[in-house]
Amino acid sequence: MNCPKNLRNGPCGGVRDNGHCEVKPEMKCVWVQAWEGSQHMAKGGAILDVQKPVDNRLKGHSSWLKVVRDKTEPAPAPAKKPAAKPATDKLLAEKPLGEKPPVAPSAP
Ligand code: SF4
Repeated sequence: MNCPKNLRNGPCGGVRDNGHCEVKPEMKCVWVQAWEGSQHMAKGGAILDVQKPVDNRLKGHSSWLKVVRDKTEPAPAPAKKPAAKPATDKLLAEKPLGEKPPVAPSAP
């Protein structure tokens, strides 16, 4: 991905009138290039599919290895989490309904 902002869902709002990048003016916006390329592809309409945002936690890791592993290794079973209790349960347990909050003593 050559977009300086690592945008995966489409161009930022800074594409120049000439189709160049706002961050690197000497470079054509990758999304302008992608759009032009998609117009020559049989399934070019797929460019309109919304993609997930980039997961920056994976920066520096090989995406190819992940693709190969996902295809060859069974997916790990998802960890079971206890059902989250609503935050209101905790509040109700700490302070019964109808009880007034403590009042700070006034200064003499
Ligand atoms: S103008 Fe295009 S290439 Fe440049 S930062 Fe915006 S989306 Fe990315």
